[in-house]
Amino acid sequence: MSLSLKKNGMPEQDPKVRAKNFEEVSFGYTEELAKAEAERCLQCKAAPCRKGCPVEVDIPAFIRQIKEGDMDAAIAKIKEVNSLPAVCGRVCPQEEQCEKYCVLAKKGESVGIGRLERYVADAARKKGEDTAPIEYASDAQKVAVIGSGPAGLAVAGDLAKKGYKVTIFEALHLPGGVLMYGIPEFRLPKDEVVQVEINNLRKLGVEIVVNAVIGSTFTVDELMEEEGFDAVFIGTGAGLPYFMGVPGENLNGVYSANEFLTRCNLMKAYRFPDYGTPIHVGKKVAVVGGGNVAMDGARTALRLGAETSYIVYRRSEAELPARLEEVHHAKEEGIDFQFLTAPTAVIGNKDGWVTGLQCVRMELGEPDASGRRRPIEVPNSEFVLEVDTVIIAIGQGPNPLVQSTTKGLDVNKKGNITAHEETGVTSKPGVFAGGDIVTGAATVILAMGAGKKAAVAIDSYLQEKRAKK
Ligand SMILES: Cc1cc2nc3c(=O)[nH]c(=O)nc-3n(C[C@H](O)[C@H](O)[C@H](O)COP(=O)(O)OP(=O)(O)OC[C@H]3O[C@@H](n4cnc5c(N)ncnc54)[C@H](O)[C@@H]3O)c2cc1C
Ligand code: SF4
Repeated sequence: MSLSLKKNGMPEQDPKVRAKNFEEVSFGYTEELAKAEAERCLQCKAAPCRKGCPVEVDIPAFIRQIKEGDMDAAIAKIKEVNSLPAVCGRVCPQEEQCEKYCVLAKKGESVGIGRLERYVADAARKKGEDTAPIEYASDAQKVAVIGSGPAGLAVAGDLAKKGYKVTIFEALHLPGGVLMYGIPEFRLPKDEVVQVEINNLRKLGVEIVVNAVIGSTFTVDELMEEEGFDAVFIGTGAGLPYFMGVPGENLNGVYSANEFLTRCNLMKAYRFPDYGTPIHVGKKVAVVGGGNVAMDGARTALRLGAETSYIVYRRSEAELPARLEEVHHAKEEGIDFQFLTAPTAVIGNKDGWVTGLQCVRMELGEPDASGRRRPIEVPNSEFVLEVDTVIIAIGQGPNPLVQSTTKGLDVNKKGNITAHEETGVTSKPGVFAGGDIVTGAATVILAMGAGKKAAVAIDSYLQEKRAKK
């Protein structure tokens, strides 16, 4: 049998049509396509793909089950270690993880592991899988989880399954973290996918308290000393946007990507006036940055009516940190990439509204500490991009509220919580942390991995605590 060197494509909306709507870009594999893709897997004994997965999903096993048509077994296999497969199948940077190590990638395209994971999770959801509630012991120990992003959801799921009573405290009015407020609907449907996976946690018995800002509603010390929690996990993410520090950043029409995307996703600005949150998008929008956040900002702006949506990135295409699929989709939709370009000022009119982004061209020098070639300014290369909206997507840092209100919690120079990489143990007894709040902005699966490792450590800590009583 000859093996196709290319992945089976995933049916998707026509780029011209989808650039004007918020429906999901890709429709996902049909059963036929999923089986054909599963046939490409060689079932390698050493399974290098698995080593590239931060939570070590047994990839060959679930692909074999797809081949055999046993989708129940396939979803059960994935869920042994990953409680958010429909999310991960859609947004994990597979090309840097599992698929990078697939043996087929040496000669052609790797097996579409992410696409298959998505297929299995969607099939199980459509079938309406049932989650049985946990039966708690009357003296079950209590764990508080701060933040309901992938780190918090992972720790909560694993601890609930071990019989602990878990309460998640979330500052926003809906749980999910970046999955809800950052990643747009056209990449990750909120009601259909994210909330369904979160509801499975609720069905297990996890309580989710929204509109609860820890550090303000309760402090960590109050949770432990007054509210009776035996352990606390902090998964508050990296929600504080960075700015460029160039003149004009305070003009009307300049957004952080965080604000722009939150307004659009969580507060449904794209359905104004049905929803009360407005959003201003002019004819031309410039998004500064080259990661997933920048791609999301530029593609959202296009869908909100911008005629031109630029990505302004100071390095070249080869260094773009965004997922390959997002870059590919962005190009198809007509996003205008301005590579090797760095902004030096935002320009405005006398009423204080943005009229342009002043930029310089760059060239690449020697690699810097990040290993990427350093951008160097080309002399006398200044020019102005005429735009009416500027979205800044150059990174996010930790919100300091929990750290500044918790006694004895060590943080590093950047304000991230210091926690052990393998256990999430912090400097404060009974307090664990993981995800972006520890590592800085990273990925969904790494945040989930940190949550899972912390769940193991919290379980040991609580068993010891009980034994000492
Ligand atoms: C626009 C965007 C697109 C992205 N695209 C991708 C992608 O395609 N693939 C990928 O793998 N990664 C992507 N990422 C990164 C990924 O989403 C994050 O790495 C991941 O969500 C981190 O998970 P977390 O649980 O640590 O934090 P978060 O998801 O940030 O969740 C933290 C939660 O804690 C809550 N919180 C904060 N402070 C408090 C408090 N004091 N009290 C109570 N609650 C609090 C926040 O409201 C939030 O809900 C993207 C990020 C953004 C912003
Ligand atoms: S490395 Fe690729 S071919 Fe081998 S088991 Fe993993 S997915 Fe299948």
